[in-house]
Amino acid sequence: MSPNQRRIAQQICEFCSGTGWELVAGKGVRQCRCRISERVNELLERSRIPKRYENCSFENYYPQGDPWKEKDVNESQRMALRDAKQFVDEYPGVDFGLLLLGPCGVGKTHLAVAILRSLVRKGIQCLFYDFRDLLKEIQGSYNSVSQTSELKVLSPIYEAEVLVLDELGASKPTDWVRDTMTQIINTRYNDKKITLFTSNYQDRQVLQEETLVDRVGVRLRSRLYEMCKVIEIKGDDYRQKIGGTRGRRS
Ligand code: ADP
Repeated sequence: MSPNQRRIAQQICEFCSGTGWELVAGKGVRQCRCRISERVNELLERSRIPKRYENCSFENYYPQGDPWKEKDVNESQRMALRDAKQFVDEYPGVDFGLLLLGPCGVGKTHLAVAILRSLVRKGIQCLFYDFRDLLKEIQGSYNSVSQTSELKVLSPIYEAEVLVLDELGASKPTDWVRDTMTQIINTRYNDKKITLFTSNYQDRQVLQEETLVDRVGVRLRSRLYEMCKVIEIKGDDYRQKIGGTRGRRS
């Protein structure tokens, strides 16, 4: 919305007639809903939530299983949904982030985005970053032709009130990757900032697969456990489930 359009919209707001303040019966005056929704839209635009996930919410996260048979519903997904909602309800009264662990496609990013969107609706400034993209941006900033500096890339990461770092451990764990992860996570830890992480690497070894420790190292794993409540989600890849139904004919 252009500043001019915004001005006109405010002028005709039925609740505040453009003053920015509305009268609430029995409660007095408060900031008008038109101003609050304007801020929410601005925060949403700046949150970098990927288009693919822009509609993810608690309402459209369905724990797998048969909803008519309570005992058949995937318990870890039910608990994850409950914990995610509780996190939003209690925010800002929380002093820990969340570490969502589990195989690919169980809805870790979906829930992390649902949390961000709910917090944004409360007027909280949030930021979403896929860790691999962040590392690429930092690498790009070393290029002498590039107009960005490392600090320019990192300052929004350090400053975001609530940050989602998606796909932790997905990049090949070179020394540089580990040092950069440590620098980012430690800075947020020292500043007591809330961070939500997702990772496809699990804590316990499943078959011969790599674990979280293999990808981030022992020290960083321990720091993550100190900063976050761990939510382990089990289940099948939802994308395959949907893809499977899409291909089927009745
Ligand atoms: P992960 O981050 O665990 O790899 P995603 O959150 O990217 O998984 O989920 C992949 C896709 O499946 C997304 O489009 C997401 O919205 C959807 N999805 C995953 N789990 C669920 C669920 N339980 N209910 C609804 N949609 C889901």
